[in-house]
Amino acid sequence: MKPKMVIGNWKMNKSFEEADDLIIAIGEQLSGLKLKTGVVLCPPYLYLELATDHADEADFSVGAQNCSEYKNGAVTGEISAEMLAQLGVEFCIVGHSERRKFFHESNQTIAKKVDLLLESQLVPVVCCGEVIEERKSNQHFEVVEKQIKESLFHLSKEDFESVVIAYEPVWAIGTGETATPEQAEEMHSFIRQLIEKKYGTEIAYSAYILYGGSCNAQNALELFTQPNVDGGLIGGASLKANDFVAIIEAAETAIKEN
Ligand code: PEP
Repeated sequence: MKPKMVIGNWKMNKSFEEADDLIIAIGEQLSGLKLKTGVVLCPPYLYLELATDHADEADFSVGAQNCSEYKNGAVTGEISAEMLAQLGVEFCIVGHSERRKFFHESNQTIAKKVDLLLESQLVPVVCCGEVIEERKSNQHFEVVEKQIKESLFHLSKEDFESVVIAYEPVWAIGTGETATPEQAEEMHSFIRQLIEKKYGTEIAYSAYILYGGSCNAQNALELFTQPNVDGGLIGGASLKANDFVAIIEAAETAIKEN
């Protein structure tokens, strides 16, 4: 059983002071746990340096929530993959459903961001997932397949190995309505089969496919013990140190139980 991964997506939350407190509290609670689970904190851009300053001594890595689809230049307000790398950021979420919805990001835009992140040696955490109407009309597999193929399947085997996928059914994000472990497992297994067909068994097995969508300390263990669920992308429950660390502990238990 490979180690799990738990990523906290803070979204646009916390003041500077609160962010500092949360980073310190998570670092303290993780120290001494001898974790196998990979932990990544994704605070807003402005707090990334607070997190990277602590990451060296703490048991977590740091990720951003987005990056520009452009490499550099006259693109006011944007942050490039290269700038993130220079700050010591190692991961970057791309294609989150909120960016697809509010900023109209397409699979093609996401593919460009993935390429730039890989060029700067960052790990893209690529989100996919269907909206409720698509699930109700039984189109969810088709939708996720298109998202994955169009945003990732142009990559070489070597590049694909550096990517993390997060399956986040949009109807489960921030709603308190989690996918059942069976629904999560069914989709994760489907995604792994897509990867296997394109890149072969070894890469499919080692690929990280995280679940996201109202995952919390109560339901994390049941989700993480599913054979194809390699951990979680956590929104709301990553904003309190105790809740987030309880989810990481569930990931540790799942590694032992599987
Ligand atoms: C997310 O936004 O990536 C997420 C999973 O949010 P939540 O855990 O709050 O549903």
